[in-house]
Amino acid sequence: MSKATRIAIIPGDGIGKEVMEEAIKVLGYIEEYDSTLQIEVKIFPWSSDYYLKHGQMMPDDALETLAQYNAILFGAIGDARVPDDVTVWELIMPIRKQFQQYVNFRPIKSLPGISSPLANGGDIDFVIFRENAEGEYSNSGGRIYNNQPQEMTIQNTVMTRIGIEKIVRAACDYAHKNHKTKITSSTKSNAIIHSMKFWDEHTKKTLAKTSPKLQLESIYIDALVAYFVERPQDFEVVVASNLFGDILSDLGSAIVGGLGLSPSANINPEREYPSMFEPVHGSAPDIAGKGIANPIAQIWSLALLFGHIGRPDVEELIVTAIEKVLREGIVKTADIGGRATTKEMGNAICEAIVAMK
Ligand code: ATP
Ligand code: MG
Repeated sequence: MSKATRIAIIPGDGIGKEVMEEAIKVLGYIEEYDSTLQIEVKIFPWSSDYYLKHGQMMPDDALETLAQYNAILFGAIGDARVPDDVTVWELIMPIRKQFQQYVNFRPIKSLPGISSPLANGGDIDFVIFRENAEGEYSNSGGRIYNNQPQEMTIQNTVMTRIGIEKIVRAACDYAHKNHKTKITSSTKSNAIIHSMKFWDEHTKKTLAKTSPKLQLESIYIDALVAYFVERPQDFEVVVASNLFGDILSDLGSAIVGGLGLSPSANINPEREYPSMFEPVHGSAPDIAGKGIANPIAQIWSLALLFGHIGRPDVEELIVTAIEKVLREGIVKTADIGGRATTKEMGNAICEAIVAMK
């Protein structure tokens, strides 16, 4: 008998808790669907409520606890009563850093029955590899001459050769496994001449060394955002730095139908540590508690988790079920033009899974 797969679940705040309930429901159906699958789940209530009670987002030994799991399924975090930098820097960042989740992976894929805001939005299908551990999101820098006329700030970008090689290699591995032919890398090396030129140089070298058959296309970020709108069908695998990848990912999510549908994965490709799977959206305080959030982004994140732990068949099963429900177009939440509740959408996806048995 194989050992059970251990999944740590952190629902978090706001709609995070609501959409996670549906993902857990799907997990139950998946276990029934496939008796070879042994899953052990534990739910951790680390959230803003936890912070207000305990003065910290998670207990001191949280990272040691999580290290014992094969993967982490995360909901969303954010609450008006807790400063944003606390929720991000005391929960999400420590997990990403401790477990060296240096790849942020986002599929950008048109879904049946979902209209793109783009006139030519049909059949978009690419993925983004965002560098998730260094780059522009560094705390190196500071301010000088405070409150004086010459007051100024410097914010440093940190890029390492190893960091670039690792994210580019992960993108190339994905391209090989999925029969893609082209990698698109985006920088602004005509203006940001130190860090971005360094990125270009090592991207090119890494590709030449590891994947000489893959075509490398380098497009400046200002042009690439326009191409995402004008000809999104041209892309297969996009790789970018932390900041540019962040912006491209949100744009990517918008052109295929919005936040309620967009999953993401924070991956440690070496599998030395657990990877973390989470919807792109936040806790959505404007609709929290109403039971109307779309659970698809969360359920699709669960699908990505299965793909990562070596069960691409289960990933496909979940994605097919989501597509079936959307194609039928009967059950739709408000964000995609319907009136269904979070629970109704979750149930519809579970029924689609049962129907495929
Ligand atoms: P946070 O600070 O937690 O990131 P936010 O204010 O940035 O929160 P998001 O949670 O990212 O907001 O949501 C942005 C908008 O998209 C909100 O209007 C929200 O209601 C909507 N939205 C986000 N996720 C969903 C979802 N799953 N279903 C429906 N609408 C959603
Ligand atoms: Mg947000």
